Amino acid sequence: METLEEKVALVTGGTGGIGSAICQRLANEGAKIITTYRNEEKANAWKTAQNFDVSIYACDVSSYEECLKLHDTVIQDYDRVDILINNAGITRDSSFKKQTAEKWNAVISTNLDSAFNMSHQFVNGMAERGFGRVINISSINGQKGQFGQTNYSAAKAGLHGFSMALAQETARKGITVNTVSPGYIATEMVMAVPKDVRDRIIDGIPVGRLGKPEEIAALVTFLCTDDASFITGANLAVNGGQHMH
Ligand code: NAP
Repeated sequence: METLEEKVALVTGGTGGIGSAICQRLANEGAKIITTYRNEEKANAWKTAQNFDVSIYACDVSSYEECLKLHDTVIQDYDRVDILINNAGITRDSSFKKQTAEKWNAVISTNLDSAFNMSHQFVNGMAERGFGRVINISSINGQKGQFGQTNYSAAKAGLHGFSMALAQETARKGITVNTVSPGYIATEMVMAVPKDVRDRIIDGIPVGRLGKPEEIAALVTFLCTDDASFITGANLAVNGGQHMH
């Protein structure tokens, strides 16, 4: 039997590198997949390329109003959401000296406000039904900080604070809330980094390679199962040993 049969999973940023792998893996386990897009052309091309059924809705996750609208549409079409993966994210890197309020706000609202904006729509329904999974995709750079990423490191560290607090509030309702913190994963974004820079990054990874999106998806999928019911408020690192604590 597929482990997530009949579960409805909403993955934000499903059209990206890690999001695609998460959608695929959850679909393999029988979940119904919903994802969101901003870039319609990219989303349509992405949807056509997938070998599983997926519903895709326009939603800017940095906007509470758009998430509220998305909630109403999804509930109309699917009745419920059992699994919420807050995965959409952006970077706007620059040294602190050159950091602007615009870049700061874009990164905080897309990577951190989004977790509140989306969870606030769906957690009550999960609590009423006595089952829910919320997984926030953070980053190694939220755990250790990163030069040029004051905005991103703050947002990703904040995400885990959010997970821990929400985990405590929902633990008795059959809901688990966890953070997954990937290290460097071989997505288009990372593969676009010049090879010499990428090689230096790989030199700092004890396992000796970049991670694969499928390795993030495998952990996320496990966290969604009943076997993972006792894991909540955790921050799980998937980084090839690059940062241990
Ligand atoms: P990606 O390929 O750039 O995909 C990002 C996704 O997020 C896209 O689907 C994008 O959709 C969506 N998105 C961005 N802003 C959005 C917004 N305001 N509203 C709705 N959707 C939005 O990124 P990725 O590498 O797969 O990363 C996924 C997550 O993992 C991110 O949170 C990232 O910070 C985290 N992460 C990645 C790595 C890595 O090595 N790749 C490492 C650690 C953590 P549109 O294109 O339509 O905007």
